[in-house]
Amino acid sequence: MANNITKNRKAILVTPENCIGCRACQVACKSWNQLPGIKTKNNGTYQNPPDLASAAFNIIKFSEVPSQENPVRWLFLSRRCMHCEDAGCMAICPAPGALYRTAEGAVAFDHDKCISCKLCVNACPFDVPRFDEEGKVSKCNLCADRIGAEMQPSCVKTCPTGALKFGDRNELISAAKKEGFATIYGENDLGGLGTIYAFKDKPKLYGMIENPTIPSSVIFWHSYLKPLSLFGLGGVVAAAALHYLAIGPHKEEEKEKEEV
Ligand code: SF4
Ligand code: SF4
Ligand code: SF4
Repeated sequence: MANNITKNRKAILVTPENCIGCRACQVACKSWNQLPGIKTKNNGTYQNPPDLASAAFNIIKFSEVPSQENPVRWLFLSRRCMHCEDAGCMAICPAPGALYRTAEGAVAFDHDKCISCKLCVNACPFDVPRFDEEGKVSKCNLCADRIGAEMQPSCVKTCPTGALKFGDRNELISAAKKEGFATIYGENDLGGLGTIYAFKDKPKLYGMIENPTIPSSVIFWHSYLKPLSLFGLGGVVAAAALHYLAIGPHKEEEKEKEEV
């Protein structure tokens, strides 16, 4: 799916090895975006909330893996929107302007333009979009308001260890390579991600998906049916058909239940 490549693209570089799991980034995001608290319960882990939610644009994923030096090794991974250059969510969205690209390359959203169709859910390879109590899309927007004013994203500014860095995407990648990281996850995936990760271990150890791809139904929709959707009933029927094929009748209801 050919997209215009964003010039002067900005990105967040996540270095999980430097993360201490303090979750200051979660708090900073909530604070800047004025997101309400979420009632959760103890699931036997410090990962809280258990997953992304309409009021949790980023979470630290906690996992334990076997280690030679210690009984277990604790891994921390910042999970949030990846701001894909080839963004499945944008490709499928039938509401003009509901999801849009900022000058810095972020995939942002307009609450008022979202029509609550939830097509973006299954178009996202990273399971990111969530929906608020009004049924409107809600996710990390790379602090579009802050970076547009030449400030750092709130989570990056707060991170005490440098596990999150923000800047020119090419410069961040070059610096991470010079530091000797084995893998820069997201350098080329989906046209290049706007959230990139520097790993010394295999990304799979941290639960990263290998070779993320956009579902073929989304590409078909983007290429052939979406143009119709902008013109009346034919497009509405096409959208309904694709919604059924891509998502099925009940899946979005299940996701809403999981968020409670
Ligand atoms: S991670 Fe998902 S929601 Fe974020 S830009 Fe990519 S496709 Fe869209
Ligand atoms: S970039 Fe902004 S919106 Fe995205 S996770 Fe960080 S603080 Fe939240
Ligand atoms: S603020 Fe930085 S060190 Fe703390 S949990 Fe977030 S990414 Fe990790």
